[in-house]
Amino acid sequence: MKNSNRCPKCLSQNIVRIPDDQRRYSSGNNIYTSKLTLISKIPVIRYVCCDCGYTENWVEKSSERGEIKKIYG
Ligand SMILES: [Zn+2]
Repeated sequence: MKNSNRCPKCLSQNIVRIPDDQRRYSSGNNIYTSKLTLISKIPVIRYVCCDCGYTENWVEKSSERGEIKKIYG
């Protein structure tokens, strides 16, 4: 969906990118690489199909994916 700009479920192109909101203290969507500080959170960007509601989650930066692999891999 992120790459094709098309919903894999209903083939709609009515796709919206939902960025992480940095102002929120916590979000179920972020991945935390430290329990001590909120600075080390990794945003998870969502793509929502506005026709059927299907949602994808993406960690967009490869440096962030490397951090997740380091902590959780
Ligand atoms: Zn859809």
